[in-house]
Amino acid sequence: INEEMQHAEKLNIISQLAASVAHEVRNPMTSVNGFLQLMKDDDNLKDSQRHYISIALNELNHAQSIINDYLSLAKPSSEGLSTINVSEEVEKTIELMKSYSNIQNIHIETEIEDDLYMKGNKGEVKQILVNIMKNGIEAMDNGGTLKVQVFNKHGAAMIEISDSGKGMTHTQLKKLGVPFYTTKEKGTGVGMTITFQLVHAMKGKIDVESEPGKGTSIRIKFPLAA
Ligand code: ADP
Ligand code: MG
Repeated sequence: INEEMQHAEKLNIISQLAASVAHEVRNPMTSVNGFLQLMKDDDNLKDSQRHYISIALNELNHAQSIINDYLSLAKPSSEGLSTINVSEEVEKTIELMKSYSNIQNIHIETEIEDDLYMKGNKGEVKQILVNIMKNGIEAMDNGGTLKVQVFNKHGAAMIEISDSGKGMTHTQLKKLGVPFYTTKEKGTGVGMTITFQLVHAMKGKIDVESEPGKGTSIRIKFPLAA
């Protein structure tokens, strides 16, 4: 329990830091983005200049997505509880991820039972799903299949997301969710920290199985709402 409390305390400090930094940095970035967009539409640009601007915009986009990761870490969790349709939220999130998966040559396979309800926060459920699906997609360098299932298991809403990607060793698996643990060149190591935190805040359970070279399977179980 002591260790658990220390971990919670650590997260608290990170959250506060993240909140202030992310907030301060976000506004100037939005403004830079706006001006770059304006420049891009200038008819008198040389091709090379247009190319540089689009690189700058891409990099800025990437920076903004990192900030967004941290901002969600900073959000107080489990405010605005309501009854939500898990099946629908999963479907919507898959739509959201499709352009990303297409670029990476990944096929998304679904098996989703209709109308399973749980108590939770819509935005947070979406955040959980995005974090896990994004990791799955990023684990499949050479394409592959992301399988998403939602079903009723003994009175619980079970969400299972499996990828056929690079997988994790036992040691890597143990580090999953430790704040800032990442093996990616451009990773933040924040995604799974938030994910674990949010799942537990909504009284859910999360379980990860992985095998190097084979893939990873993540199961989340939420109590069904009446
Ligand atoms: P990030 O994605 O920014 O690296 P995460 O917290 O989302 O941070 O993930 C931490 C690390 O866990 C990743 O860098 C990766 O090494 C590993 N990981 C997470 N999900 C998967 C997965 N589906 N397959 C293989 N490795 C994964
Ligand atoms: Mg991630």
